[in-house]
Amino acid sequence: MTDIGIDTQFDSGNIEVLSISGASARLALHKDNQSDFAQWFHFRVHGAADRELELKITGLENSAYPAGWPDYDACVSEDRDFWGRAASTYDKDEDGGTLTIRYTPGTDIAWFAYFAPYSMERHHDLVAESAASEGVEYRRLGQTLDGQPLDCLEMGDGARQVWLYARQHPGESMAEWWMEGALEVLCDPTDTVGRALRKHCRLHVVPNCNPDGSRRGHLRTNAVGTNLNREWAEPSAEASPEVLAIRAAMDESGVDFAMDVHGDEAIAAVFLAGFEGIPSWTDDLGDRFYRYQSILERRTPDFQTAKGYPKSAPGTANLAISTNQVAERYKACAMTLEMPFKDNADWPDEVQGWSPERSKLLARDCLAALLEWIESE
Ligand code: ZN
Repeated sequence: MTDIGIDTQFDSGNIEVLSISGASARLALHKDNQSDFAQWFHFRVHGAADRELELKITGLENSAYPAGWPDYDACVSEDRDFWGRAASTYDKDEDGGTLTIRYTPGTDIAWFAYFAPYSMERHHDLVAESAASEGVEYRRLGQTLDGQPLDCLEMGDGARQVWLYARQHPGESMAEWWMEGALEVLCDPTDTVGRALRKHCRLHVVPNCNPDGSRRGHLRTNAVGTNLNREWAEPSAEASPEVLAIRAAMDESGVDFAMDVHGDEAIAAVFLAGFEGIPSWTDDLGDRFYRYQSILERRTPDFQTAKGYPKSAPGTANLAISTNQVAERYKACAMTLEMPFKDNADWPDEVQGWSPERSKLLARDCLAALLEWIESE
C-alpha cells in the first residue's frame, strides 16, 4: 500500500510530520512563532480514500492546554464546508501525550483541524459583504505587523456604544463563526433584532483582532508571539499594534457594553467571564453584567452559568486582560464569551460537537439578549 501524504502550506495550516507509514502518521504540534504556545493544528491528508487513517499527534503534555485533549474529538471535513468530528482518544502516557485520530474518508482528500477553520479569505468575504450592506460603515483601525488590515464594521445611530470583538486568540476560530452570525443579524435590513439594536446603539464590530496569528496557524499569539489579551494595560506598536489600535478607537467612542469572544480548550460549556476584582468595581456595575448573563441563560440552553472560570477576589483583577481593562477604563459592562472546542456537554452533538453552525446561532441569541437587556434597563 502507498503511503498517505500530508500538506499544511495554506491559510492557518499547521502540523509537523514526524513519520508516515501506510495510512498511519506520527505528528507533532508547532509552537506559535516566538512563543511557547502550541495547540492549533490544521492539515490535509491525501491518498486516503476508503482507508482507516490513524493519525497520532504526540507530545501533547507539553501543549498549551493538556486538559483540552481528554474527551476531545478532532474536527474533519471532506468538502471544507461541513465539519464533523473524527473519533479520537487521548493517552497522556503515550509518546509524551498522544491524541490518536481514527477516520476513514470516503474521498481521497480529508482535512483535519483543532476546530473548523475560519480563513482570512472568508474573513475578507465577510468584511466585504458586511461593508456593502445598507447603513454599515467600514473602518480600517490599523495595520498588523505582517501588514494586514485590522477591520472594523460600524452601524447604528443610537447613543449606547457597543463593542463586539473576537479572535484575539487566533486559534479560537469559533469566535469568528460567532461574528459571522452576529453580522448577519446586524447587517440585514429585514432583521428586527438588528434594526432595534441599530436604533438603540452605535455598534463597533471587529470580527478578527489577530489576522496574523490566524493566517500563520497560531493558537494564541500574533506574528511576534504576543498574547494580545495580556496587552490591554500597556499596548505597544512593537508588540501589540492590534490592541493599540482597538483601544484608541474605544477611547474615541467610549464603551457602554463590550463582548470579547473566545473559545476554551478544556471546559465543555458556553460561559461568560466578567470583571470581578477591578479597582472601580461597584455592585451596580456588576449587576448589569449578571443581569445580561441571566437573560442569556434564559434564552438559550446552549448557555449556562454553573461551569466557568473562578472570579477574581476584590482588587486582584488583571488589568492587562481586555474585559477587565474595558470595564475599568470606561466603567462599561464588559464580558468575555467562551465557547468550547469540545462540545456543550449538557447538549452533546455526536456528529459535530460544538460547531460553526452552533456558534452562529449563539451569536443571534447573544444579540437578542442584548436587546432585551437594553430595553429592560
Ligand atoms: Zn481566548
